[in-house]
Amino acid sequence: MSNKAYIGLGANLTSPARQLWQALHHLAALPETRLLASSSFYRSAPMGPQDQPDYVNAVALIDTALAPLALLDALQAIENQQGRIRTRHWGERTLDLDLLLYGQITLDLPRLKVPHYGLKDRNFVIQPLFELSPELVLPDGKALVDLACTTNDLVKVAPPLCDCRTLR
Ligand code: ATP
Ligand code: MG
Ligand code: MG
Repeated sequence: MSNKAYIGLGANLTSPARQLWQALHHLAALPETRLLASSSFYRSAPMGPQDQPDYVNAVALIDTALAPLALLDALQAIENQQGRIRTRHWGERTLDLDLLLYGQITLDLPRLKVPHYGLKDRNFVIQPLFELSPELVLPDGKALVDLACTTNDLVKVAPPLCDCRTLR
């Protein structure tokens, strides 16, 4: 059985936009998974420590038969492959891949909370998510549009991928 999952991508080191492109290629190459769409790339100010570069963020939509924890393992393997080094909390990184939504599932496991706990508070998540799926309703019944209407202030740095099939 396959599920639609939304992945939040973020990077602020070593050519951030290139990191996001590379991550999209890696997502497209995951087993039992299809990359369906990517949002535009957006520039955003850092959360947490301010003495770090701005971020480039995007959201990808995949269709996957990987179970949520297997998907998290795969996302963390991609982060590691792209040189993620964990230093300080919310510190600079080559790549962050967060599992934002997995179908309408809610999970509260030690390693995995879904929906991602920051989803509703972060413009750099809401805005690209809204670009991809303006009709989206979250597992708690809240419509994304009700979160999105106040958050359209991020600058686009690259347009959406026109055809994700080229990444397979
Ligand atoms: P934030 O989670 O606030 O965006 P971060 O992305 O910098 O911060 P990470 O260092 O990437 O945090 O991840 C810390 C831990 O969060 C991971 O080891 C992972 O087990 C856990 N985690 C819990 N829920 C999720 C989720 N939905 N997606 C990704 N990681 C998650
Ligand atoms: Mg994160
Ligand atoms: Mg993360």
